[in-house]
Amino acid sequence: MNRKSPSCTVKKTGRPLTEYDSKAEANSAAKHANQNYAENKLVPYKCSKCGFWHLSPEDRVTPSKTCTICRSADGTLKESYATERDALRRAGHLRREQGVKLKVYECEHGNGWHLTKNEN
Ligand SMILES: [Zn+2]
Ligand SMILES: [Zn+2]
Repeated sequence: MNRKSPSCTVKKTGRPLTEYDSKAEANSAAKHANQNYAENKLVPYKCSKCGFWHLSPEDRVTPSKTCTICRSADGTLKESYATERDALRRAGHLRREQGVKLKVYECEHGNGWHLTKNEN
């Protein structure tokens, strides 16, 4: 099953992302792809935009992706940033645009850096 997303594209190329209905489906597609193109490992993530699953390269081509484990207080998966600098830059934007103060911390599961409103 290879369905192109009508709403979501690869930022770098502008091509539509392939969408999957379930994590299991995305997982098996990722596994298959990783057997063929091992040097650019793909990981499934649930898209916050369309609600379907996409695959994303595990390396740091995009400054922000969604953590596979950590959740915000509202239950959604946290955005994660590849480097502390990316996270700090994002926090700076949000402070200027929305007036929110966010702290940067390293994901304890190795999925990059997160922002949090909490003080601890
Ligand atoms: Zn999407
Ligand atoms: Zn995390």
